[in-house]
Amino acid sequence: MILELLKADITEVEVDAIVNAANTSLLGGGGVDGAIHRKGGKAILDECVQIRNKQGGCKTGEAVITTAGNLPSQYVIHTVGPVWNGDKEEKSKLLADCYKNSLNLAVENGIKTIAFPNISTGIYHFPKDKAAEIAVKAVKDFERISEIEKVLFVCFDDENYQIYKNIL
Ligand code: ADP
Repeated sequence: MILELLKADITEVEVDAIVNAANTSLLGGGGVDGAIHRKGGKAILDECVQIRNKQGGCKTGEAVITTAGNLPSQYVIHTVGPVWNGDKEEKSKLLADCYKNSLNLAVENGIKTIAFPNISTGIYHFPKDKAAEIAVKAVKDFERISEIEKVLFVCFDDENYQIYKNIL
């Protein structure tokens, strides 16, 4: 598995799957979620609604998969990051779960290349340095990581990009 760092808009990244930092409603929101739904078009939201009708949204730390509509990737994996409130241990585990459960879905769907945004570090206010450490560790520790060819960490803001650059 190759780990790569990119400073980019994740909606423009060409990989098998991009990951969305969604919310439990799966109905779209701000930040990266808003960008993915705006550019991906209605097909993604329609599938999210179907999933919602079937299982009632998505819990924090869990992930669901849809096609990617008009985006250059084939799939969008929607995962719900924890809202930071200072409860370090619980929130850190949930954030690691986001990466792990997204990678599980990737492997189950034959996805070989996957791009992650910096989950929870926007509106959900998870400290960026902690979140980056958790993200990198969760990917490296994933038990089936040999089945994935490439993992991209896509940073949108300079601060995250510098943090990841130092870690990787
Ligand atoms: P959360 O609610 O999980 O915090 P946000 O979307 O608010 O989700 O932020 C998560 C991260 O996504 C932030 O680091 C933000 O800078 C980044 N981000 C926002 N828009 C994009 C985009 N188009 N591509 C990649 N990353 C993005």
